[in-house]
Amino acid sequence: MGYDIRDSRPPYKFDEAAMSITLTICDDGELEEDITLPAKFEVCDVCDGKGTVVNPNIDRHGISPEEFAEDPDFEEDYFSGVYDQPCGWCGGRRVMPVPDPRSDEDRANLRRYNDRLSQLAQWEAEDRRARELGY
Ligand SMILES: [Zn+2]
Repeated sequence: MGYDIRDSRPPYKFDEAAMSITLTICDDGELEEDITLPAKFEVCDVCDGKGTVVNPNIDRHGISPEEFAEDPDFEEDYFSGVYDQPCGWCGGRRVMPVPDPRSDEDRANLRRYNDRLSQLAQWEAEDRRARELGY
């Protein structure tokens, strides 16, 4: 599907009762349009469905086998889940809602939304390049 819901945070709303996701297509904050799509749950790919992640302050840079070898207590703590925290993405629910387009209209809306996202990303990249060049 080529859709990464992390790109859509925060402008998306999930209604669990209706199992629908509302995405906002925004145009520099001036023109906004909400599209509502059917949703389904998928295993959270941030925590791999565990519901917890290791505190990023602990293993942000990766942990080498040498570190564990030097500090067996640390290794024990690490694997016992001492440093785990609820996954910030799924909130510990192990699953996350993703759009589940069912009609042609849904698919067209989702495509429009994704196009918009890539356009915004492109503009942002161009802005950044311009700033780096000192404009
Ligand atoms: Zn998660």
